[in-house]
Amino acid sequence: MECIFCRISEGKLPADFVYKDGDVFAIRDAHPVAPTHILIIPRKHVPSLADLKSSDDRALISTLVSTAVEVAGKVSLAERGYRLVWNCRAEGGQTVDHIHLHLLGGRQMKWPPG
Ligand code: 5GP
Ligand code: ZN
Repeated sequence: MECIFCRISEGKLPADFVYKDGDVFAIRDAHPVAPTHILIIPRKHVPSLADLKSSDDRALISTLVSTAVEVAGKVSLAERGYRLVWNCRAEGGQTVDHIHLHLLGGRQMKWPPG
């Protein structure tokens, strides 16, 4: 399988880990778009939000969000604030087809997003 995030999860590709447990891990994005840009990723390969079928899979959403909130605190973003972003499929801007949550912070975010 050629999924980048599965390969990182299996330790076959290097990454800068901020958090890891048996279900999820968080790594610094290789091409950051903010001073802090971290990806929160489940170890289970699910291609996108639109592919979450079972209730177990849907439970991943709350695990990813709560991990992101925990990581945001750990990297001192809780006070100043941050943005969490899900990109889903082509028009959502998703480029890696393994579900992940972006944690962005360290600068003022704009609205609407591009
Ligand atoms: P998407 O565009 O799918 O929402 O987000 C994918 C993210 O993964 C992008 O921000 C991209 O920079 C990041 N990315 C792609 N390949 C790698 C990699 O090999 N390592 C890390 N750390 N990030 C990656
Ligand atoms: Zn994968």
